Amino acid sequence: MILTDTHTHLYSEEFAGDRNAMMQRAFNAGVRRLFVPSIDSSYTQQMYEIEKEYPDNVFLMMGLHPTYVKENYKEELEHVEKQLASRKFCAVGEIGVDLYWDKTRLAEQQYAFKYQIQLAKKYGLAINIHCRDAFNEVFEVLESEKGDDLFGIFHCFTGDFEQAQKAISYNMKLGIGGVATFKNGKIDQFLAEIDLKNIVLETDSPYLAPVPHRGKRNESSFTLLVAEKLAAIYGVTVEEIAAITTQNSKDIYGI
Ligand SMILES: [Zn+2]
Repeated sequence: MILTDTHTHLYSEEFAGDRNAMMQRAFNAGVRRLFVPSIDSSYTQQMYEIEKEYPDNVFLMMGLHPTYVKENYKEELEHVEKQLASRKFCAVGEIGVDLYWDKTRLAEQQYAFKYQIQLAKKYGLAINIHCRDAFNEVFEVLESEKGDDLFGIFHCFTGDFEQAQKAISYNMKLGIGGVATFKNGKIDQFLAEIDLKNIVLETDSPYLAPVPHRGKRNESSFTLLVAEKLAAIYGVTVEEIAAITTQNSKDIYGI
C-alpha cells in the first residue's frame, strides 16, 4: 500500500529534533510520497536539503504563501519566479488568499495569487491553494484564470458541499486531512457525496493533527489515520483509498 501526503511542511522547525525518525515513521506507515509546499524564500534552502536526502520520496513545490505577502512581496515573487526557471518542481504552492490573520492586504494577496497561477501555467504545473476565510476571494481569481491549463489541489478543504463542487469545477482536487476526523469538522457530513476521484490526502503537518492526536504536532505518518477515516466514510478498504488518492495525486503533480 502506498499513501501520498500531498501537503507536508517537512522543513518545519518543529521537526528539527527528530526529522529522520519522523520520516521513518511515515515510510513505515506506507507514506512513501511526500509533497512539500513552499511558504517564502527563507525556507527554500532547507527544502532543497531535505529533497536531497530523500530524492525518491520528497517532491517540492515553489510559491509564496498568502500570509507571507508583506511589503517585500514583489521581491518574494521574483524569488519564486527565479526558482521555477532554474529547476523542476511538482507545483506552484502554497498560494491563495488568507483573510483570517490580516484583511488589509487582500489586493496584494489576490495579485500574488493570480501572478503565481500564471507562472504555473507557463511551466505546465499544478497549483496548491491555501484558502482561509476567503472562498469568494479565491473563487474570484480562479474564475478569471479558469481553463484546461488551470488545475491543482484545494489544500485543507474546509468548505461546504456547494463550495466543494465549485472547486472541482475549476479542475481542483480536494485536499483532505485531519479536519475530516474532527467531531465538529463538518466535512465528513457530505464527503461521501463527492466522488473519490476528486480527493487527495494530506496532513499539513506539523499543523492540524487528526484524532486521536488533535492539538498535538502532526506528522506525515498520520496520513494513514486520514485514510482510515475516509475508508469508513466511503465504505471501502484503506487499500482502495490509498490506491485511488495516490493515483489522483499522480494525475495532478505528474509524479
Ligand atoms: Zn500548508
